[in-house]
Amino acid sequence: MSEPPEHNDWHHIAADEAASRLAACCDDGLAEGEVLARRAVHGENRITARPGKGPVLRFALQFVQPLVVVLLLAGVVTAFLGEWVDSGVIFGVTLVNAVIGFIQEGRAENALAALARSVSSEVTVLRGGGKQRLPSTELVPGDVVLLAAGDKVPADLRLFRAKELQAIESALTGESTAVAKHGDVLPKETVLAERSNMAYAGTVMITGRGAGVVVATGDRTETGRISRLIAEAPDLTTPLTRKMAVFSNWLLIAIGLLAVLTFAVGMWRGSSAFEMFMAAVALAVGAIPEGLPAAMTITLAIGVSRMARKRAIIRKLPAVETLGSTTVICSDKTGTLTENQMTVRELYAGGVQLAVSGSGYSPDGQLGSGEQIAGAARECLLAGVLCNDAGLTSDNGRWEVVGDPTEGALLVVARKAGLDERSVLKTCPRLDEIPFDSARQYMATLHQIEGRQVVYFKGALEQLLPRSVRMLDADGQTVPLRQDEVASAAREMAGEGLRVLAMARLVGGPAAVLDQSSADAGLEFIGLVGMIDPPRPQALAAVNTCHAAGIAVKMITGDHAVTALSIARQLAIAQAGESALTGAELAVLDDQRLCEVVRTVNVFARVEPEQKLRLVRALQTNGEVVAMTGDGVNDAPALKQADIGIAMGMAGTEVAKDAADMVLTDDDFAAIEAAVEEGRGVYDNLVKFITWTLPTNFGEGLVILAAVVAGVTLPITPLQILWINMTTAVFLGLMLAFEPIEANVMQRKPRQPGTPILDRALVWRIVLVSLLLLAGSFGLFLREIALGQPLAEARTVALNVFVVVEAMYLFNCRSLTRSALHVGLFANPAVWYGVVMMAVLQALLTYLPLLNRLFATAPIGVRQWLEIFAVGVLAYLIVGIEKRLREHR
Ligand code: ATP
Repeated sequence: MSEPPEHNDWHHIAADEAASRLAACCDDGLAEGEVLARRAVHGENRITARPGKGPVLRFALQFVQPLVVVLLLAGVVTAFLGEWVDSGVIFGVTLVNAVIGFIQEGRAENALAALARSVSSEVTVLRGGGKQRLPSTELVPGDVVLLAAGDKVPADLRLFRAKELQAIESALTGESTAVAKHGDVLPKETVLAERSNMAYAGTVMITGRGAGVVVATGDRTETGRISRLIAEAPDLTTPLTRKMAVFSNWLLIAIGLLAVLTFAVGMWRGSSAFEMFMAAVALAVGAIPEGLPAAMTITLAIGVSRMARKRAIIRKLPAVETLGSTTVICSDKTGTLTENQMTVRELYAGGVQLAVSGSGYSPDGQLGSGEQIAGAARECLLAGVLCNDAGLTSDNGRWEVVGDPTEGALLVVARKAGLDERSVLKTCPRLDEIPFDSARQYMATLHQIEGRQVVYFKGALEQLLPRSVRMLDADGQTVPLRQDEVASAAREMAGEGLRVLAMARLVGGPAAVLDQSSADAGLEFIGLVGMIDPPRPQALAAVNTCHAAGIAVKMITGDHAVTALSIARQLAIAQAGESALTGAELAVLDDQRLCEVVRTVNVFARVEPEQKLRLVRALQTNGEVVAMTGDGVNDAPALKQADIGIAMGMAGTEVAKDAADMVLTDDDFAAIEAAVEEGRGVYDNLVKFITWTLPTNFGEGLVILAAVVAGVTLPITPLQILWINMTTAVFLGLMLAFEPIEANVMQRKPRQPGTPILDRALVWRIVLVSLLLLAGSFGLFLREIALGQPLAEARTVALNVFVVVEAMYLFNCRSLTRSALHVGLFANPAVWYGVVMMAVLQALLTYLPLLNRLFATAPIGVRQWLEIFAVGVLAYLIVGIEKRLREHR
């Protein structure tokens, strides 16, 4: 196909005309060969992202940080004082720091953005006469797209069918109220925001169903044209990193004051201004934890990729941290706790119960003992097939459902009785429909059958039974409704854990359109279908793990209370004798009472999506940190309100995914539990890094202060301090980010939100190690001076004490409570790799003449090394004993 002319009047021509201009067929869609030809011309359906902040600006921003500004100032002043080497190295270090920050930030951003993109948006299209689910990037002009509530519109479409279809177009027009859509022709001058027969890329459908033909893809869509799609850089901050940023700023002020004090004390003691200035600079550069922000971002980013491997995609970084403090997980039942692999097991119609054999979606199996199905039972199967939007496909004997598994199961059971949906639909064409909606809990379709109009209904028994007045008997004749008999049959099915759907009909129904009022009363009840949806095999273990970790698990489902309870018991979410709270019961509780009820009830059934929001709020009022799953459009507010909104990757709508903090790629509950575990691990690793890094800074600050107060030469120079801080943060501290999760993380209670990052024990440990560093480094320095060694050698010893103690202390920090031997000496190879790298660097610093010259170091001998290592081992043992004592207490 050649490039089509650009049209801007799609809204002004009839839908058929639009289809014929595009050489498209609204009934069958494009043929596969045609799709390939068009893709060659139009390319992928993707909007070219507008570049975000350019690399130059991003690099420049690395220098706009308080710490770096201090360093730059120090560099300028040292240059004025003629200390060219010092000044050069200070500038070099800021440059290296900026390069590392630039690269790491870019990497973290890219990884997060790639993850967000990996939650690909999918569409249902009609191609070659069949329905298919495809990534939306594969669309071409002329494709026929089927829209349902919750879909993000994948390209610009001219609608030719719309039923209760409403869209939110704020992404395009800024208007946030929903607009109704239809398929009629509009006047030419209609402005974009009012073209209600078009659906534009990037907008979302919030109710109804519809179909349209693609008129523009990618950059040719309206959204693509105005390029509103700004390349969104993910936010790399979280509550914890923000807290640490605030902490660092305070630290900076405190250090600034201390530096001034050092300068003043030194001057008062009669030292030279130059020397005291260098001391103040040393104090400033030493005490600032420069590696902290980068290390935190990297630790979080590593957590995100670990979670992705466990099929939980983080869309918003703070979620990593919040996950670790989750106290309640509210989960859907269908598809999350269960497999969403529906198989009809029982049919109840006309007072007769029929068992169904077979498994999965394969149509091998039979009803009862294989007898001819007639009367009410046949009508029940017919209703299930007609009131249905799913399709069945088989690939080498593997049967799969396109669409809702509940509906797929109905097609399968009908085929087992010899009723093929494709031929049935030809003889009973659909004229109109009321789409399924979780709040309405039923679906209806209007058909033309042998000259009569019949509306078929399928949905929750609670919705259809009260609207019925008559029922079909075994022969298919209408008789007065025996309500109690039907209700008890349904209870019995639900008691076996079956998901129960009711079928009803209205013969000689409305003329040619169907709306909710047509379904209000006077129905003929047809029968019940009971299907199994087995619990996911890993779900029980995951629920038990959550319970051990002090996390409550609650089931919130649209399904019947009895079915829900039966599954909940199998999964240890509810105990025997426990009862469920239904949406109707919940509706009459006031907020205060609801807060009490949510403490004890674990199963909420027949809940409407809007009620999920109330549940989240009630739990939060009780001080809980709530993770909540959801998949529909109406779940979005609850997902946003929850501390962690979790959307389903497979069953979830685009709206739900957009609102969520995390998306589960395979909808599995076990992935939530795994993500919580990772979240706790990441938080632990952050705390480990902080606990490891602060003593270096405090220790260096103390050494400088002590030297100034004692009136001796600085045991370490500003340059040497920069060397220590930069190299140890990268090669030692960062390795803690790779520390595997400790075995006991899921045996602890959840961390209380709002508790300080460092508890008292850790603050004491930091003080202890700082003092050990002071004693070791300053002590050995004084000893070398006393032995008459040159200053450069004494300083090299002092510097190496810092590095060796930090390396030993790194092993202490691998677990905050247990010894390194306990967590497995080689469980984190990164630590060893880092230690070896660090050893090589220290050897170079100590023995390479070039570095000797730059950093004013000098080679030292075996005696000195032995003393340095003795200090290191001693520090390790002292911290080990402190940990042991605390553990015993
Ligand atoms: P969960 O909320 O745990 O995912 P669910 O699938 O039962 O469970 P909903 O999708 O809200 O929740 O469905 C509510 C009820 O509506 C179901 O229990 C069923 O009775 C009915 N129902 C579900 N799917 C359909 C459908 N496709 N057509 C008609 N009725 C349906």
